[in-house]
Amino acid sequence: MTQSRIALVTGANKGIGLEIARKLAEAGVHVLLGSRNGARGETAAAGLIDAGLAAECLHLDLDSAETIAAAAATIKARFGRLDILVNNAGIFGSGDAAPGKASIEAVRRVMEVNFIGTLAVTQAMLPMLRAAPAPSVVNLSSSMGSLAENADPEAPYYSQRFVGYNASKAALNMLTIQLHEELKDEGIKINSVSPGFVKTDLTGYGEMTAEEGARLPAEYALHAEVSGRFVEPEGTTPW
Ligand code: NAP
Repeated sequence: MTQSRIALVTGANKGIGLEIARKLAEAGVHVLLGSRNGARGETAAAGLIDAGLAAECLHLDLDSAETIAAAAATIKARFGRLDILVNNAGIFGSGDAAPGKASIEAVRRVMEVNFIGTLAVTQAMLPMLRAAPAPSVVNLSSSMGSLAENADPEAPYYSQRFVGYNASKAALNMLTIQLHEELKDEGIKINSVSPGFVKTDLTGYGEMTAEEGARLPAEYALHAEVSGRFVEPEGTTPW
């Protein structure tokens, strides 16, 4: 059995997830790149392996209970534990908008992936996290999920009215708070980490590269000293 720490990063075939996977692997962690698309996941993993890093692709679709169960069974059988879980996979739904005009189907889809899917993965991985000596969970959140900032006209993303996406990240933050309270006596660290405003396929534009956006989530995955927090590159984010 490998002595390296074992990490699972969901949605790791591109964007911020791939760069988080790279940073964890560069720190000596054996990284499982969760990917719903096998070919893209294998290509991403091959890029890390070619750079001399310990990485492999793991089929994982947040919409599929079967792939989640199979991924958990594989991790249990191969490693017996999971030191780091980075819940990175997420979508922005086309048709999402302000509450008065958002597509209900778009809102349902984004909640299903960003919240329900992430909760399902986290539940499935809990037994392996509990088996690790100092486990850490990072939920990729957004200041757009801050209830306080949605109600603050001075907040930077106050004008970004996407009821589905914003609610999905607020719900993800609820997972962070409740899981922290549920597990705090077991030594599991769990935090909501906002990467910043990053140019990826999800946004199409942004102030940071995916590598820059991966820095804070990777730091919390590798060295979390606190738990139950909501942070962004500028500091603490209000819930
Ligand atoms: P991205 O480049 O679009 O990457 C999203 C990743 O999630 C892809 O690997 C995608 O896989 C995967 N994914 C989507 N639905 C999935 C599903 N059902 N099952 C498994 N994987 C799925 O986006 P990103 O900007 O890097 O976003 C990563 C995370 O950061 C998201 O949670 C996002 O909300 C969060 N975030 C981003 C920003 C930003 O400025 N970019 C800001 C705040 C928070 P496919 O290739 O198969 O689609």
